[in-house]
Amino acid sequence: MKFNLTEEQQMVRDMVRDFAQNEIAPVIKDLEKKGEFPHDIIRKLGELNLLGIIVPEKYGGAGLDNISYSVAIEEIAKVCASTAVTLSVTNSVCCYPIMTFGTEEQKKKFLVPLASGEHLGAFSLTEPQGGSDAANQKAKAVPDGDDYILNGVKAWVTNVPAANTAVVMAVVPRGDERKISAFIVETDREGFSVGTVEDKMGLRCSKTSEIVLTDCRVPRDQLLGEEGDGLKIALHSLDASRISIGAQCVGIAQAALDLAVQYAKEREQFGKPLARLQAIQFMLSDMAMEVDAARMLVFRAADLKDRGKKMTAAASQAKLYASEIVNRVVARSLQIHGAVGYSKEFDIERLFRDARVTTIYEGTSEIQRIVIARALLS
Ligand SMILES: Cc1cc2nc3c(=O)[nH]c(=O)nc-3n(C[C@H](O)[C@H](O)[C@H](O)COP(=O)(O)OP(=O)(O)OC[C@H]3O[C@@H](n4cnc5c(N)ncnc54)[C@H](O)[C@@H]3O)c2cc1C
Repeated sequence: MKFNLTEEQQMVRDMVRDFAQNEIAPVIKDLEKKGEFPHDIIRKLGELNLLGIIVPEKYGGAGLDNISYSVAIEEIAKVCASTAVTLSVTNSVCCYPIMTFGTEEQKKKFLVPLASGEHLGAFSLTEPQGGSDAANQKAKAVPDGDDYILNGVKAWVTNVPAANTAVVMAVVPRGDERKISAFIVETDREGFSVGTVEDKMGLRCSKTSEIVLTDCRVPRDQLLGEEGDGLKIALHSLDASRISIGAQCVGIAQAALDLAVQYAKEREQFGKPLARLQAIQFMLSDMAMEVDAARMLVFRAADLKDRGKKMTAAASQAKLYASEIVNRVVARSLQIHGAVGYSKEFDIERLFRDARVTTIYEGTSEIQRIVIARALLS
């Protein structure tokens, strides 16, 4: 593993950094205040191929590696964590399972519009009674001729209602067997409706909703993999997506550190800048070290993924560490800001709220520890 980015990876970083600074930064405060989904920004990101950054060029994607992908997510998250998760979900848990487990027809039909940004993707595993216990699925997919009929309620689905295509898990009952299976479902299908749209603490420019499936007829050729492959597909996709959520955490943490450094240099107390106080310097030092360490873990997992190596535990370590340090880093940055950090006028307030969810979604910190321990002890 090299410790410098290739020329191509640097170009991706610079291109995405420019886009985030020029297109997202000027509007994000206002959009966030209104809790609006940034349709225009997502459309432009689609034009830059960032919704299909890891999708092969053959299907209209950018065909880039996971380090480039991580760098892109970090740059977006520095400016808008909501937009970063919109990209992450479309790439990692909608495009990726279709790329990896889909038939050629499914790839042509679904990946091409997703990669171009014409469509937005979602992934629906969680149910009201089944979060960490993902195998506890109640949604059903009953075979009927050339179709399956889906019924059930799915919870906390990122990108819905904006998404057009969702990878949805449901149980196919076969005698005594409960075969958890993955289906590619268009969100405008009859019987597919949006339930509660969550009113969230943070990530307010990203939409998260319930899906209600009522006799939703899905053709058999939209089953992803085989009947019973659903949990394997979901867990494999989550392994990959934990790298990008780690990168999202690094982006938020870097932004919080940069704000703290700037504020500590500007704000004076007791006749000198805060930056001259050793207590503040120690906080900044710890923050910088933790951000760097998290980035290294993210790059290591991305590098293993790019080389086709086993990376389940490495991805969990990256996600666990990055999500835990980002919460410490935003808290310290807010502390350094004093009272103004508690004001919605200052960006650190938004970063503090946006960071909170990262130890919860895509597998909680406790679940990551279970995954890491399982790898250690097996
Ligand atoms: C903003 C947001 C977006 C989301 N987007 C999506 C999405 O796009 N698609 C999707 O499918 N889901 C999504 N989720 C759901 C998310 O993945 C779940 O919230 C997460 O898996 C945890 O499930 P839960 O909330 O039901 O918590 P629970 O599973 O009920 O857990 C509650 C607490 O108990 C702990 N716990 C549970 N089991 C164990 C155990 N065995 N050992 C130790 N501790 C344990 C947990 O770590 C947690 O602290 C999203 C959630 C949020 C908040």
